[in-house]
Amino acid sequence: MCKLCDEGKPQNHDYDDKPEDHSGSRRDFLKTTAAGAAAAGAGLFGARPAAAHDDDDRRGPPEDHGKHRRRYVIRGGSVMTMDPNAKETEFPQADVLIEGKKILHVGPNIHAGDAAEIDARGKIVMPGFIDTHHHQFETALRSFLANGVLIDDKSGSKSAMPNYFGFILLTFAPVYRPQDVYINELFGGLSQLDDGVTTVHDVSQIHHSPQHSDAAIQALFDTGRRAAFGFFESAGAAVIGTNPDNKYPQDAPRIKKQWFSSSDQLVHMIMGGEVYLGDPSTQQSWTIGRELDLQIAAHILSPFGIRPIMDRLANNDGGDKHNIGIGRDNLFIHMTGMSDMAWDKVLAVGAQVSIAFPIEMNMRHGMPPIIRMQMMSEAAKVPFEPSLSTDVECTMTADFFTQMRSAMNLQRLVVNQMILNSPNGNQNLPDPRNWELPQSAVTVPGDFPYWPTPPAGIPAPLTTRDVLRYATINGAKALRLEKKTGSLTPGKEADIIILDPTRINVAPLNNVPGAVVSLMDRTNVETVIVAGKIRKWKGQLLDVDIRQLRRKLEASRDYIFSKAGIPVDLFA
Ligand SMILES: [Zn+2]
Repeated sequence: MCKLCDEGKPQNHDYDDKPEDHSGSRRDFLKTTAAGAAAAGAGLFGARPAAAHDDDDRRGPPEDHGKHRRRYVIRGGSVMTMDPNAKETEFPQADVLIEGKKILHVGPNIHAGDAAEIDARGKIVMPGFIDTHHHQFETALRSFLANGVLIDDKSGSKSAMPNYFGFILLTFAPVYRPQDVYINELFGGLSQLDDGVTTVHDVSQIHHSPQHSDAAIQALFDTGRRAAFGFFESAGAAVIGTNPDNKYPQDAPRIKKQWFSSSDQLVHMIMGGEVYLGDPSTQQSWTIGRELDLQIAAHILSPFGIRPIMDRLANNDGGDKHNIGIGRDNLFIHMTGMSDMAWDKVLAVGAQVSIAFPIEMNMRHGMPPIIRMQMMSEAAKVPFEPSLSTDVECTMTADFFTQMRSAMNLQRLVVNQMILNSPNGNQNLPDPRNWELPQSAVTVPGDFPYWPTPPAGIPAPLTTRDVLRYATINGAKALRLEKKTGSLTPGKEADIIILDPTRINVAPLNNVPGAVVSLMDRTNVETVIVAGKIRKWKGQLLDVDIRQLRRKLEASRDYIFSKAGIPVDLFA
């Protein structure tokens, strides 16, 4: 007890149980316990009690972090490197040494000379998350469409009206000014940085003029995180004809030259090649993109009538000259409702697939195609996995813990039901439209007649490590960034998050991948590092005045709603 507290003068006791010397006996104790656990064949990545530590919240970040040749070491965290090529990728306790913007070394007890230290004991250290499809320009519209589906289905339901196509694209998007684009992009980007998402593919379909494009790109640079600028169409405005200054797609060479002539910067460019805009647009955008050696990304989903278009592209019969085909340079978003033939081609050419699990489930894109990808991978004996994407915050959070949990739960829902429906070798294997237990259910002998052993041909349930892989290294591959980011690998740039499992929603730590995927949210994202530079420290974003930016975003929201003729109705 504290005398001063008792006398009614509350004291800050944050430090009371801290070790005085960071290199002292407490660390030795931890080393001993970690070594002991390893010797017993168990570790934090299996199941083992953790030694948790409070942290020294008053220390500032290491000086000159991210600057050329400047070194610091992240000490003593539980490290997941996510490096698919490394022999050892998970350490109950290890260090990460950073020099300038790059990772120099990962491993236990690194000798780091006089490098500054970040104490990560009791914390989790892993690569930042990578979002391969996010419409950041819609940040001012957050929660507006929390019930909406893609297109008015004429049902008169609250999901049909308002809907995404009619309101977000045709009503709100056309009124955006360049300054709206800037603050929406910046705020949405900082918000995800706060959540540990260190890389984004921003699908900015808001290019009503070159000024709009430049505002979007400037915001991506100003956010200070890794980003792919996706140069897409002038959404909505192109349909209703209110964009006389529209320069999509022919402005792409100018944009690439002006903004992306260096590969040694945080932001690079992807060409948007939407195929529902019509064959002439596909011809033009894909041709320009390929001439510029850019990846070509497109939303691929049956609700917009894309299935037959995708079939033609799979046959190298796309565009109005019938010579556009899909290739390794494609990044396909959603891939819901496509034909077996198109899928075979996507796998064969090595194109990338981005799945937006929560949004696809919520907004009627169709079943997220994870089971299909697993079955194709198994049959072809080659890896075939998605990356994850948040899509639109008008309907769903861009939080990545939600992404990973949704991916895992959706897949497990389907697989678990397939198993329950398949006793004694598939007798009850359902029509995918009927995943409930059939009326004439066959059972298995024993104490648990409704709990069959999984028959052959049903994929393994996704695990926490699977979705962590989707959320990190797969995203880097999907954006052609795997040489730069996506794992904690010496030589790659230091895009690192430190997660705090000592908080009330996670402690005690018993399993590292499990804690991250199953329990955490953004309150556990303690520190965020992009290319060696610390952007969030001890729970606070650095170098940003969020209150001021929020006011600007609210002013933008007021303008957009008013110009679009939609009242702000907090209980609509
Ligand atoms: Zn999208």
